[in-house]
Amino acid sequence: MVVSSVLGFPRIGANREVKKAVEAYWASKITAEDLNKVAATVRKASWTSVQAKGVAFIPSGDFSLYDHVLDHSVQFNVIPKRYQGLSLSPLDVYFAMGRGRQSDGVDVPASEMKKWFDSNYHFVVPEFSEETEFKLNFNKALEEYKEAKALGIETRPVILGPISFLTLGKAAKGSPLEFKPISLLHKLLPLYKTVLTELKNAGAEWVQIDEPVLVLDSSAYLDKEFSSAYAELIPIASKIILATYFARLNSNVHLIAKLSVAGLHIDLAREPDQLDSVLSAIKPTAIALSLGLVSGRNIWKNDFVSSLTLASKAIEALGVERVVVATSCSLLHTPVSLEVEDKLTDEQKDWFSFALEKAGEVSSIAAILTDAANSSVALEANKVSIGKRREFEQNFNDAVRNRVASITPEMLERMSSFTVRKDLQGKELKLPKFPTTTLGSYPQTKDIRQARAKLGSGESTEKQYEDFMKKEIENVIRFQERIGLDLLVHGEPERNDMVQYFGEKLEGFLFTRNGWVQSYGTRCVRPPIIVSDISRPGPITVPWSSYAQSLTKSPVKGMLTGPVTILNWSFPRTDVSRELQSKQLALALRDEAMDLEKAGISAIQVDEPAIREGLPLRRAEWDAYLKWAVDSFKLTTAGLSDRTQVHSHFCYSDFDDIFPSVQRLDADVISIEASKADMKLLSTFREYGYSNQIGPGVYDIHSPRVPGAQEIKDRLKAMLEIIPDSLLVVNPDCGLKTRGWKETEASLVNLVEGARWARQNY
Ligand code: GLN
Ligand code: ZN
Repeated sequence: MVVSSVLGFPRIGANREVKKAVEAYWASKITAEDLNKVAATVRKASWTSVQAKGVAFIPSGDFSLYDHVLDHSVQFNVIPKRYQGLSLSPLDVYFAMGRGRQSDGVDVPASEMKKWFDSNYHFVVPEFSEETEFKLNFNKALEEYKEAKALGIETRPVILGPISFLTLGKAAKGSPLEFKPISLLHKLLPLYKTVLTELKNAGAEWVQIDEPVLVLDSSAYLDKEFSSAYAELIPIASKIILATYFARLNSNVHLIAKLSVAGLHIDLAREPDQLDSVLSAIKPTAIALSLGLVSGRNIWKNDFVSSLTLASKAIEALGVERVVVATSCSLLHTPVSLEVEDKLTDEQKDWFSFALEKAGEVSSIAAILTDAANSSVALEANKVSIGKRREFEQNFNDAVRNRVASITPEMLERMSSFTVRKDLQGKELKLPKFPTTTLGSYPQTKDIRQARAKLGSGESTEKQYEDFMKKEIENVIRFQERIGLDLLVHGEPERNDMVQYFGEKLEGFLFTRNGWVQSYGTRCVRPPIIVSDISRPGPITVPWSSYAQSLTKSPVKGMLTGPVTILNWSFPRTDVSRELQSKQLALALRDEAMDLEKAGISAIQVDEPAIREGLPLRRAEWDAYLKWAVDSFKLTTAGLSDRTQVHSHFCYSDFDDIFPSVQRLDADVISIEASKADMKLLSTFREYGYSNQIGPGVYDIHSPRVPGAQEIKDRLKAMLEIIPDSLLVVNPDCGLKTRGWKETEASLVNLVEGARWARQNY
């Protein structure tokens, strides 16, 4: 018999109950006890609904109120000093680590967050130091395992593996340069042993240990650690299934084959081609193979026929008893259930599977493999659905396809070199030395959100909505004029979200009402779904930007979200390449940029905060990705005249290894996050000889803290030691939409003062 498994389930709740309860707890509207009740209800609902789908291996221990990596850190007492001794409850310490805390005399910033591999989920980065004293504060997997058992549900506990835990973490500030968290492995292993022993004693037959770092190139240096750690854990634990996902194992499969773990999980939704090499490596062993056939990263209905082909191959090589049908990774990255979705038509709903439906899929595929005769209904139904979708996918937009096919190299390059352009733009924009600007959005107040909601619900007319937004834009323009900013923006009040806004105005996208996915902590997003060829029915931002420009003599910067970011923050199609989708987006945005220019906008910013996170996990694939990603940006912007200043913005500062690509973008101005990182970053720019203008954020907008004028001057001074005078632009490190007006005004006044000071002194 072939069995099925789910590697992890969304924990926000079908109606975001957990998110809402956590926020209510923060606002002191409910108690910790109330919060735990909500959490327990959601866990129970997940377990019972996955069980009802007939899944054999149901995960437990994967729940989290904020982030599962943070849970893991706290469980092992990896709690930085700054969060200790604050007289807070353990729960409040936990949240303080996740999001910072500023109350009752406590003032601690949040821990650093990082993107979870190449997904849009953020985890809280564990901080290790030579002083780290591991201690088992609780055994989360055990608690949840028992909780499920008390409900009569047998589960398979999930634990983040020791090697991934340590290597995903960072060395605490002040650690000696040579300190590497992995050196703590021998201190950590005894605690893992306790966790695993307790689970075994409680009756867990299997335990899933996630070691996703096995798909990274860097894991090639961890052979010794993997071997010694698992040699210690395997003998005392339940049967271990080692889970990997998001990319290919490559040669690490030989390492695993030697470990004699009971099971291995691989991602076949992403990397079907790795099946052959994995099969031949583990065939001589007794390792069971969990086939990650149903994608945990996308929302398209699984094509059973192709899954069955892969699974049959595995069964032929290993035998039925050694094969499990599974989701490719945790379903954390997909919305909970399609059932409640009322914004999609029945035809559209039939294209998709959300988490719960995916649980049904693994179970159906396993059933078909076990007993084809009695499962033909499921297979036939799936064939019909997939057939209809394939039919829909044949609806090409010929004009768009032809246009992509006829992209020429000339379309990717500006007319003249940066130096020539810089001169022309100087004349056009008449900006002073060290020009000041902001990155697009201004505070999204309650009024603004209400105005958008009212339009959506029909409570207000288009005209009323437009008048309201125009008033907002005017206020933002007058504000910027008053405090003396040089290059203005319209403030983006009309945008709910930088990706959703464009998706809604373009052809080719679908939107859900309830398709929420956790991005970090209690922040959830509803990624748009790309379903067909993308085109632009008409101008999107032009009316707003030209209205803003009509109000002032200062130049106003147009504001677009770049093609790669729109793609990376959506659920993409799987029938055509990401490259094609990105280029279709780029052509639509190229038209928008040209229309902005025609309407008299002389500076246009194309935000690409997600270009870096889209980097494939395996370096061998970087070049191919960077080629089309950078080309897409260039396609969007290169049609503009030399006189138009092209800006781009990135929300991060991690450029070391993609530097040549940043240069190749050939944006006239890039703004980057620099306030959190130190000046080392700017030195990198200089070392590489970056030639265009840069606006390294002079303060951190992610916190309400107001930077003093002196602080900004000091930063500028430090920056000017590295960046030539003629290239420095002065701006905050990201958009201001999440800030309040009070701190925004105070901070920007100081920013302008800093720039004026620099003009006098340099
Ligand atoms: N223009 C966007 C804004 O200011 C940029 C945001 C981002 O890059 N995340 O909101
Ligand atoms: Zn940003």
